[in-house]
Amino acid sequence: MLKLENIVAGYGHITALKDISLEVPQGSIVSLIGANGAGKSTTMKTIMGLVKPTSGKVLFEGQDITGHKTHQIVHGGISLVPEGRQILQDMSVYENLEMGAYIRNDNEIEEDIKKVFKRFPILDERSYQLGGTLSGGQQQMLAIGRALMARPKLLLLDEPSMGLAPLVVNEISAEGTTVLLVEQNVRQALKIADYAYVLETGKMVLSGPADEVRHDPRVMEAYLGGRVE
Ligand code: ATP
Repeated sequence: MLKLENIVAGYGHITALKDISLEVPQGSIVSLIGANGAGKSTTMKTIMGLVKPTSGKVLFEGQDITGHKTHQIVHGGISLVPEGRQILQDMSVYENLEMGAYIRNDNEIEEDIKKVFKRFPILDERSYQLGGTLSGGQQQMLAIGRALMARPKLLLLDEPSMGLAPLVVNEISAEGTTVLLVEQNVRQALKIADYAYVLETGKMVLSGPADEVRHDPRVMEAYLGGRVE
């Protein structure tokens, strides 16, 4: 569904991604692992068109979307839950969810808001509360709910963390959405993922089925405290 081919990207003089290739098959959960500053968020931003690669290609459903504008990419079916959540602080929970559907013009938006409320009942209780006054975990739920309101085919989750992710990610995946996940809790991420990629200072050093990656001695040593379970 998604393919990155030899992506080189960065910020001014900093090259954050040095020839990155990655594939996310339709229906899968793919986990992207790496230490702080490895380039995980930059990978997500490059997919969304927020960072322009200096070379390489981003292909989505066989189409070259490299250099497309972010709103076109969202239209095409990719949504990002950014690191740090970035919900609209001065808008209510309900309004935040409506904003998530801004690209849609069908009449099932309200229905989808109800689905988000069913998944995260606390948001239903707080639907009039301003986003900025929610707790960290509640904001996290809202950020995921808002991304889902665009009805993405591919959901990019950048460090959802907070113990909330595994269950929710499995549910979202079971409903047919493909997921690319960056998660601080590597142990959990590798348990739910089908495939995993390991980034180190902008280079992809390892990839494969998640079960193989989590038994790799380098991964066990660096991310799992030396043991798999
Ligand atoms: P973390 O786990 O800490 O969020 P990450 O793997 O997501 O890290 P990135 O945020 O992609 O890492 O950063 C990759 C590199 O690019 C880092 O060296 C970082 O300092 C640099 N970088 C990221 N954003 C910018 C920016 N806006 N301007 C300059 N350099 C940046």
